[in-house]
Amino acid sequence: MSEAILKVENLKKYFPIKAGVLQKTVGHVKAVDDVSFEIKKGETLGLVGESGCGKSTTGRTILRLLEKTEGKVIYKGKDLHTLKKEELRKLRPEMQIIFQDPYSSLNPRMTIGEIIGEALLQHGLATKENYSDKVIEVMKICGLASYHIRRYPHEFSGGQRQRIGIARALVLNPEFIVADEPVSALDVSIQSQIINLLMESQEKFGFSYLFISHDLSVVRHISHRVGVMYLGSLIELAPKNELYDNPLHPYTKALLSAVPLPDPKLKRNRIILKGDIPSPANPPSGCKFHTRCPYAMEICSKDIPVYKNVGNEHFVACHLVK
Ligand code: SF4
Repeated sequence: MSEAILKVENLKKYFPIKAGVLQKTVGHVKAVDDVSFEIKKGETLGLVGESGCGKSTTGRTILRLLEKTEGKVIYKGKDLHTLKKEELRKLRPEMQIIFQDPYSSLNPRMTIGEIIGEALLQHGLATKENYSDKVIEVMKICGLASYHIRRYPHEFSGGQRQRIGIARALVLNPEFIVADEPVSALDVSIQSQIINLLMESQEKFGFSYLFISHDLSVVRHISHRVGVMYLGSLIELAPKNELYDNPLHPYTKALLSAVPLPDPKLKRNRIILKGDIPSPANPPSGCKFHTRCPYAMEICSKDIPVYKNVGNEHFVACHLVK
């Protein structure tokens, strides 16, 4: 794998908490809190963590669907958050998003052809007269029949709707796609078909994914490297086999201990974490995980552990790991 197509540097996204008649800012929800990583051309980086850990907000802030609070998002050498509107608009076709719930992201009054072809027209990549050939070509790649072009979203199953969502992204020849829980709303039997479609189209077109999911088995299957988030922070990141075979952070170990093994006769020693996830509006001091960590030491509540490379491209933030 080659050079980085995307570099995320110390990205922060805080949402203000307003209160009182004057709606004064009384605090911030630290949804993304100093996150750094890069994604190479043709690579899939999986991002996992419990719901509310900031992974979806990270994806949306990278694409500038949300404005950042601090940090940089460098896409092919350009800082996306400093680009003027027109420059960003030109790059939009290259950077796509696939949503979790395909139904709510598909306009019920538009035909499938119009939904998939809309952005082609918007960006001047096709005309009304010639866009349908391109649309049908992509529909076929995504396992949809050409006669579906005149049908409406309600006529499709959940899996087919996700195929439409993927076709809508692929038709623009993207180079980078944020896939935000793209199979979480689907039946297990359909999930593998959609995952295969995502993997096959990557192999064919060579784009990169940021693949966001809470499902560690799915992420292991599709990703080249995997990052783990907790309360807005990236706490561990490594090539997938390195991470799954040799997790170093106590939180990653606990998450992995809950993944069922393929052989039902084998059992893992499940690590049950105490307490609930703290509020991202008031995260614990030092290591944010110290309130739930079975190995917490005195230093953990005082000093933020440094996020460091411990070899084999394995990054981790924990005082236990030297
Ligand atoms: Fe646990 Fe301390 Fe490591 Fe945090 S830094 S994960 S509290 S041992």
